Amino acid sequence: MSIVKETADLLSKLGVDAAALSGGDLAVHSPVTGEQIAALKTISPADAGKAIDAAHEAFKAWRLVPGPKRGELMRLLGEELRAHKAELGRLVSIEVGKIPSEGLGEVQEMIDICDFAVGLSRQLYGLTIATERPGHRMMETWHPLGVVGVISAFNFPVAVWSWNAALALVCGDSVVWKPSEKTPLTALACEAIFARAVARFGKDAPANLLTVLVGDRAVGEVLVDHPKVALVSATGSTRMGREVGPRLARRFARAVLELGGNNAGIVCPSADLDMALRAIAFGAMGTAGQRCTTLRRLFVHDSVYDQLVPRLKKAYQSVSVGNPLESSALVGPLIDKAAFDNMQKALSDARAHGGKVTGGERFENGHNDAYYVHPALVEMPKQDGPVTEETFAPILYVMKYSDFDAVLDDHNAVGAGLSSSIFTRDLQESERFLSADGSDCGIANVNIGTSGAEIGGAFGGEKETGGGRESGSDAWKAYMRRATNTINYSRELPLAQGVSFDIE
Ligand code: NAD
Repeated sequence: MSIVKETADLLSKLGVDAAALSGGDLAVHSPVTGEQIAALKTISPADAGKAIDAAHEAFKAWRLVPGPKRGELMRLLGEELRAHKAELGRLVSIEVGKIPSEGLGEVQEMIDICDFAVGLSRQLYGLTIATERPGHRMMETWHPLGVVGVISAFNFPVAVWSWNAALALVCGDSVVWKPSEKTPLTALACEAIFARAVARFGKDAPANLLTVLVGDRAVGEVLVDHPKVALVSATGSTRMGREVGPRLARRFARAVLELGGNNAGIVCPSADLDMALRAIAFGAMGTAGQRCTTLRRLFVHDSVYDQLVPRLKKAYQSVSVGNPLESSALVGPLIDKAAFDNMQKALSDARAHGGKVTGGERFENGHNDAYYVHPALVEMPKQDGPVTEETFAPILYVMKYSDFDAVLDDHNAVGAGLSSSIFTRDLQESERFLSADGSDCGIANVNIGTSGAEIGGAFGGEKETGGGRESGSDAWKAYMRRATNTINYSRELPLAQGVSFDIE
């Protein structure tokens, strides 16, 4: 079956109206073959503004529905996702080029966060705080926040939305989602799946609880600037964050920024090299190097360099690259030509800085407009040039180190601060790596790779990664407003800090 026909069939099974898929101005391509698989209509900025107004009306009703009842909607969404996992996972593979287990894994992540949100819906609680005034009680309460805008990147086209939406919806917010213009089809599928959950939930769910805005960054800008959007959770490049962050700050809106990563691993003398090898291979080559948490820099102690790096090179030379829909390849395509050009530019830059490159060539698979590459391993004399920036492609820069303090400095000497890992069996090294003067990233791992986070932890990074947190732990607090309440049940009016203000 052609990829165009398969896409249409999947979307129809998922409940997307076929009429929405053609005749529009936004051409959608599958990176698997490079073919155009749909042409969607985009929304005008004016209509996007009206949709946000409608989402605000939805918020006003939804905030009055009790939290545990809102959780029931997430339970139903989780059921719908379970029922449609195969189709949605396959659509992710077609639209992004992920291998089947990663396409399905992304949907599993959505199911996991729905389960998390169901439990959370009964745990949206605040503190009771000791007060210095007699006959008083002080507490904090958490209230729904407003319209939550979600701007998402192409590489996790559905999971990132669900991390945000599941929290926002149990917190009593409505959601307006601007998916990547490269991956709008999976967003339409999620919208249809969500509509089924809402239909089963019944009349307490207002219209426009979830709105999908198809369009490019101009539509994202409407979301960023609209006064009725209380929080924007924006996932994408640091370049995008530099534009979005100040615009949100100008109107004092909340921001959850989930931006680029330049993630590193350190392999210490005592590391289990077999384990490190497998973790590095998945972290650096998996998802064709197109994860925000992809391993991009590797520091190897000089005592184990000659044992590890030749094995790693062999893994790079033998890894299977190819069509993820028709083969058991482990590495699928890059998203588009621009990604391929950026990769080649970074590799030539690396060569100019003394790098020795293994791999990196284009892998011809008979489709001129599909961009498959052999992952590249680059041995660098030091951390320099392209090593300090994120290139969103499968390039792993490998460097030798001899001194632990110096390698920690190098580890932290880049702009991004998302994910990090250390391979060691030395307690002092691992604890130091996790300590106040260790890794400066939002995610720091021991004896596992940089990628593949679970939903239970708060996800996000520091510095140029933007500082936002979403998904698990107490990330939900960003999606609610906190009120501190003091209640006087006495017959006196004592003022705090002993202030007296007695009027006659
Ligand atoms: P991108 O920055 O090109 O686009 C991301 C989204 O932002 C798209 O929906 C785009 O339309 C929108 N956008 C761009 N400029 C905008 C603006 N000025 N105003 C409003 N919206 C705007 O990113 P991409 O190529 O889709 O994704 C890859 C990048 O995303 C990488 O840098 C990767 O590290 C990062 N990423 C980060 C995380 C994380 O959680 N930290 C997760 C996934 C991807």
